[in-house]
Amino acid sequence: MDKVRVRYAPSPTGLLHIGNARTAIFNYLYAKHYNGDFIIRIEDTDVKRNVKEGEASQLKYLKWLGLSWDEGDDVGGQYGPYHQLQRLDLYTMYANKLLEMGLAYKEYKENSQEYGIRFKVPTDVLYSWDDLVRGTIKTSSKEVEDWIIMKDNGIPTYNFAVVVDDHLMKISHVLRGEEHITNTPKQIMVYQAFGWEVPKFGHMTIIVNEKGKKLSKRDASTIQFISQYHSKGYLPEALFNFISLLGWSSPINQEILSKDEIIKLFDSKRLTKAPSYFDREKLKFLNSKHLKKLSFEELKALLRPFLLQANIKIKNEKWFDNLVTIFKDRITYGEQIVSLYNEFFSSKFIINEEEKNYIIENNSYPLIKRFYELLDDLPKFEVEAIENIIKQISSETLIKGKELYIPLRVCTTSHLHGPSLPVMIVLLGKTTVKKNILKTIKEIGKQL
Ligand code: GLU
Repeated sequence: MDKVRVRYAPSPTGLLHIGNARTAIFNYLYAKHYNGDFIIRIEDTDVKRNVKEGEASQLKYLKWLGLSWDEGDDVGGQYGPYHQLQRLDLYTMYANKLLEMGLAYKEYKENSQEYGIRFKVPTDVLYSWDDLVRGTIKTSSKEVEDWIIMKDNGIPTYNFAVVVDDHLMKISHVLRGEEHITNTPKQIMVYQAFGWEVPKFGHMTIIVNEKGKKLSKRDASTIQFISQYHSKGYLPEALFNFISLLGWSSPINQEILSKDEIIKLFDSKRLTKAPSYFDREKLKFLNSKHLKKLSFEELKALLRPFLLQANIKIKNEKWFDNLVTIFKDRITYGEQIVSLYNEFFSSKFIINEEEKNYIIENNSYPLIKRFYELLDDLPKFEVEAIENIIKQISSETLIKGKELYIPLRVCTTSHLHGPSLPVMIVLLGKTTVKKNILKTIKEIGKQL
């Protein structure tokens, strides 16, 4: 087989969407699996729809996802330029060739010298290709009308430019979304008109939401732009992993995979025909699994900006370490550190009936009183010291387990359950904890 050369050819009409990212990732995986080249070509001929930051943002988030490319405007390459608007002469030249060969014709604008060029669709030809995903697909030329290849403003249409570029850039495989299936016969007829080799096509399945509807950019219930996942503190490794499973299935009994593992396993035979379901819960699950692979320092680096953005003061590094320690197993994506913090630390200290009753029914007052006294005497307000006084109370009162921990947790944090109590207590700080205990004692109608 000749060298595999694939491309991702975005139109810079918006930000990097899950669907675009999937196309880019599958092409990247195909190239890397077969030691081929991955190329980025910007299809910017739809000038009116281009958005200013579209291209830069797409490239930025492709890099963030872990992709790199062998050729493209920013990295160079021998088949450039890699922007279609810089290749207009080439399209004109090839369109003129088709005119010369009698395979296309001019169409003049009314009362003007300007003309567009229309491709003359041959009669009664069967266009057929062996799709990498869907097997044989056939279309008769009868179903296709003569179509515009060059508009009267000198700009080519997508179906024409894409063929000229894919041919000149020696693209061997075209993996793209299934919405392009109807374009493929038009493209094949251009290859055949020039006598060029037709690349292999593979049309990937649509991505659907939980209602089985095609994911639409306007569907506000699903976050669909990669930048939004970045802002919420998802990991690129997890998104890469998740997206690679949208229309491809792992051949081993394991779905939590690194980029390198997926490259090794990637096989176009496992591209699925059935629509792929965008399962948010699965994305969260994968993200939490990839979060576990981070070192403690990496996790801190991920979480820190979210606290700062929410104006939560990091008192000191020790405090931050403690905070990360108690929440690290509960976090599924970075931004959650803020809601967890708020849930346990910044809410008002209010004891509800259930909590109050627990203390009264278990007769926990002496325990709480003793805890207060020992806390008050504590020289160093640190996790180990708190652990020790809890142990001391347990051996003095012979109370242990739930009956020991629940009252202590309620009177210090106003929660029945939560992360490691000694760490919580240290994070709250001595003044707050003492105040909370006194308030609890008052609530149950006692005095110190
Ligand atoms: N610019 C086209 C798009 O964004 C590329 C399609 C193709 O890969 O041929 O859909």
